[in-house]
Amino acid sequence: MAITAYQKCINPDCGAEFDRTEAIFKCPKCGDLLDIQYDWSKAKLPEKMEDFSKRWANRNQRLDFSGVWRFRELLNFCEDEHKVTIGEGQTILQQNDFIAKELGMDKGNVHLQYEGLNPSGSFKDNGMTAAFSHASLVGAKSCACASTGNTSAAVSLYAHSCGMKCTVFIGQGRIAFGKLSQAMDYGAQTIQIAGDFDDCMKQVQDVCSKLNIYLLNSLNPFRLEGQKTIMYRIIESLNWQVPDWIIVPGGNLGNSSSFGKAFKELKDLGLIDRIPCLAIINACGADTLSYLVNQRGLKWNSGWVESKEINSLYADFTAKKFSPHTIASAIEISRPVNLKKCLRSIEICDGLVIDLPDEEIKDAKAMVGKYGLGCEPASAASVAGLRRLVQDGTIDPGEKVACVLTGHALKDPDLTVNYHTKREGVLSNPPVEVPNDLDKIIDIIKA
Ligand SMILES: *Cc1c(COP(=O)(O)O)cnc(C)c1O
Ligand SMILES: [Zn+2]
Repeated sequence: MAITAYQKCINPDCGAEFDRTEAIFKCPKCGDLLDIQYDWSKAKLPEKMEDFSKRWANRNQRLDFSGVWRFRELLNFCEDEHKVTIGEGQTILQQNDFIAKELGMDKGNVHLQYEGLNPSGSFKDNGMTAAFSHASLVGAKSCACASTGNTSAAVSLYAHSCGMKCTVFIGQGRIAFGKLSQAMDYGAQTIQIAGDFDDCMKQVQDVCSKLNIYLLNSLNPFRLEGQKTIMYRIIESLNWQVPDWIIVPGGNLGNSSSFGKAFKELKDLGLIDRIPCLAIINACGADTLSYLVNQRGLKWNSGWVESKEINSLYADFTAKKFSPHTIASAIEISRPVNLKKCLRSIEICDGLVIDLPDEEIKDAKAMVGKYGLGCEPASAASVAGLRRLVQDGTIDPGEKVACVLTGHALKDPDLTVNYHTKREGVLSNPPVEVPNDLDKIIDIIKA
């Protein structure tokens, strides 16, 4: 299969192109983001998406088993011998009629794409399998990332699986315990900076360029190629029907960026006939995207994004020493690196962004726990978002919706325990305290 992938700067005034074998992560000419592009005319693609289903029969083959690489023709940037896989993407789309009922949606229309089933417990593995394959292609020996938690868990797991040295940067006190435990357990060098995620992000980029270390943040465009497959698996689970809405939490905006790219490519290739609407959910305490889009009217504008708006907001953050705050630690980010690509997705998918208070996110998390497979706080922003968008009439009960649950329920047990034992929300379900006495226990169970 001929490989026609190359890297291209998203800035229309620059548009510089680079070979797929370069590990540069940002345009060296203008500093903007890079995209992976393909010459599709030379690609060997299936005639219809259904054809990918045939790979389910070859699950003893590692690339056909992977929920990312069984779609490899749609992210064909490296030879098979470089592809790194640990069995990611074995996720499910759960139709959840209990939640549909709670939210006033029609039966059969609410689906939860549970990415917590990935090997490291979050969607990040979809991107890491792709980025580590690129790292293998370029012969990288060591890698690093900044993280709110799940990136470091995924990077550490993939790094030790392919024998690479790994350093992860985390902000002090900003990481859920489940995630921190993974980085240490998988043997990563864990560097805790006295600062927040945005500080870590800046440091890791400088460290990587000074020490020639492979960078694994979602700035890395190869990661986003892997994350496209989350959308392929959603439409596969819907028997190759495109839903009306995709709802996803927005942090560094890698997912939202990759989802728009995925749908645009499928539509251009004639593999789907329409593109779903995309709703991105910020937390109120980390609402950069929502503010810029809804208050400042920021748009993709064919790539000519009003950088002045972004720069003046960030200068304001710096002047005020602003640090984002939300219980949804995975989306506690104030300078999202993929902001511009996300604006492109909003245009492609006729999308929108809203920001929601932590209380609504926590209650939605408890609802996913009560009726679904559970999820971590940031993931529940998608379900909280659905509730809000049904309430305000943006989403009709008759529309088909897929909410992406980005991370596993056990990532942040402290928050879950506090929510229930301290009765923080409407679904709090604390343990009942009883004396060690059979009759009293029976009374309580029967009551
Ligand atoms: C990383 C992460 C997010 C944020 O995703 P982006 O692609 O950075 O917007 C949301 N939820 C969880 C659980 C995450 O780990
Ligand atoms: Zn450029």
